[in-house]
Amino acid sequence: MSIAIELAYLVASIMFVMGMKLMNKTKSARQGNQLSALGMLIAIVATLVQIEAISFVEIIGCMVVGSAIGLYYANKVEMTKMPEMVAIFNGFGGLASFSVALSDYFLRTDVNMESIELVTIISIIVSVFIGGLTFTGSLVAYLKLNGNISGSPITFKGQHPINLMLFIGFLTAAVFTVMDQTDPMLIVILIVIALVLGVLTVIPIGGADMPVVISLLNSYSGMAACATGFILNNNVLIVAGSLVGASGIILTQIMCKAMNRSLVNVLLGGFGQTVNEVQGDGPTITVKEIGVEETAMLFDGVSSVIVVPGYGMAVAQAQHVIRELMEQCEKRNIDFKFAIHPVAGRMPGHMNVLLAEANISYDKLIEMESINDEFPSTDLVLIVGANDVVNPAARNNPQSPIYGMPILNADKARTVIVCKRSMGKGYAGVENELFGYPNCLMLFGDAKQTITKVVSEMKEM
Ligand code: NAP
Repeated sequence: MSIAIELAYLVASIMFVMGMKLMNKTKSARQGNQLSALGMLIAIVATLVQIEAISFVEIIGCMVVGSAIGLYYANKVEMTKMPEMVAIFNGFGGLASFSVALSDYFLRTDVNMESIELVTIISIIVSVFIGGLTFTGSLVAYLKLNGNISGSPITFKGQHPINLMLFIGFLTAAVFTVMDQTDPMLIVILIVIALVLGVLTVIPIGGADMPVVISLLNSYSGMAACATGFILNNNVLIVAGSLVGASGIILTQIMCKAMNRSLVNVLLGGFGQTVNEVQGDGPTITVKEIGVEETAMLFDGVSSVIVVPGYGMAVAQAQHVIRELMEQCEKRNIDFKFAIHPVAGRMPGHMNVLLAEANISYDKLIEMESINDEFPSTDLVLIVGANDVVNPAARNNPQSPIYGMPILNADKARTVIVCKRSMGKGYAGVENELFGYPNCLMLFGDAKQTITKVVSEMKEM
C-alpha cells in the first residue's frame, strides 16, 4: 500500500513539473494547468486513502464548503482585483501550514511525551515562522491593496532594529523549544513573534513596490508548505511547496529587476518609502490633444504601430476593441505589435492574460528587452491606459521616485498617442513628462469607448 502511495506521489510530482513546463507557453498553458490539477487530484486521493483519524464525511464536507467559497469568489472577482485575491490566497496558504504545524506539535506533545525528532521540531518551528508571517503579511498586503488601510508606507522610528530584535527573539525561543519541547510558553512566543513580524515587515512597503511583496509572500507560502511536508513526512507536499517557493522567488527576482530593486533590499523590508513623496509643484505640462478622426487618419497612413497596454486597458476592458484595431491595421498591411512591460497593470502577466482573452496571438506580444530598440524606427505608438511604465523620468530624473525603473522607450517613436481619461497619475503617483513631449498627442477618454470610435472611423475609410 505504501509503495502504491509513494508511486502516486511520484506521478503527481512529475505532473506538477511537466504542468509548469507547459505553462511556459500561452498555447499549452491551459493544458499545463489541467495536468497540474490532475496531479493534485492524484495527490489528494493518495493522501485521503491513508487517513484514519478523521472521517470521509468530515473531509468531503470541508472540501465542498471550501470549493464553493473559492468558486464563488473566483467567478465574482474583477480582473482589476486579482492582486487582492492572490494576496489573500497566499495568506490562507500560510495559515494552512501554520495550523498544520501547530496541531502536529500539540498532538505529539500531548499524546506522546517522547521527544520529537530534531528534523520534525525544526520543521515545525520553520513552518510556524514562515506560515504565520505569510498569513499576517498577506492580510496587511490585502488591506493595503483593497484600500482598507493606507497604501503609503507606514514607518516609525527604530522599525528595523525592532524587526531585528524580534527575529533574534524568535531564534532564541526556537533554540529553547528544540531543547525543551514541552514548554507551551515557548511555542506561544514563537507564534506571537511570527504573526507580529508579518505585520511589521509589510506595513512599511508602499506604492509601486507592492507587486514584489505579493510574489515574495507567494514564495513564502510555498516554503511554509514545504516545511510542513517534512513534518508530515509527505513527499508530494515537499515537492509542491518547493515548486511554489522556487517559482515565487524567481518571479520576485524578475519583478525586482523590472522595478530596479535588489532582492536583499526586498528581504530587509521597508522598501518603497520614496514612492509618492517627491511631488511638490513641478512645472505644469502643456499637452497637445488629438481627436478620434485625426487618430484614425494617422493610423491610416503609417506602416508600423506598437501598442503599449497598461492598467487603464484593464479598467476599461479595452482588449477586445484593441484586437479590432489590430485587424483594421493588418488589413492595411501595417506592422502591428504589443510592447509588454513586466509590471504593467496590477499583477504579473496582467496584460498577457487580457490580450490572450481577446484572442491576440502570443507572438504579437513582445517583452520590454526585445522591443525597446524598435521604438525609434516605429511610426506610431499607441499607449492605452499605461503611465508609469512609459514615464521617461525613470531614465532622466534622479529626483523622481521611479528613477532607475526600466521603462518602455515609447517616447522615442516618431509619433506617440496616449489614450487615457485625464491627466491623472499612475500607480506611483508621479507626473509623466512624456505627455508634454513634442511628438506626443493626448487622446482623452475611456480607452474602450475612444478606441471603439477610432475603429469605426477606420472601418468607414
Ligand atoms: P499606471 O501607471 O497605474 O497608469 C494607469 C493609467 O491608466 C492611469 O494614469 C489612468 O489615467 C489610466 N486609466 C485608468 N482608467 C482608464 C480608462 N478607463 N481608460 C483609459 N485610461 C485609464 O499603469 P501602468 O503604466 O500599467 O503601470 C503599472 C503600475 O502599477 C506600476 O507603477 C507598477 O509598479 C504598479 N503595480 C504593478 C503590479 C504588477 O504586478 N503588474 C502590481 C501592483 C502595482 P486616467 O485616470 O487619466 O485615465
